[in-house]
Amino acid sequence: MKCPKCNYENSQEALYCGLCYHVLRKEEIPLEVIHYEAEKDFDVISIQDETKPKLRSIYILISIIFISIILFVIISK
Ligand SMILES: [Zn+2]
Repeated sequence: MKCPKCNYENSQEALYCGLCYHVLRKEEIPLEVIHYEAEKDFDVISIQDETKPKLRSIYILISIIFISIILFVIISK
């Protein structure tokens, strides 16, 4: 089987190109591997989503403190 990327002649049962590691037969990679990769990606996304609300609440808290300081300065004048 010739690699479509680099034209390297691989053996018929090769899953990856021996030269450039291009995937030759994607449909024959076990589903479990694809699921595992998908789950890893999902974990990364969910971790990022968990940190965002925390950051947002910190920004809200800082802005509330900042606004109250400004209000205090205005009122005290
Ligand atoms: Zn190749």
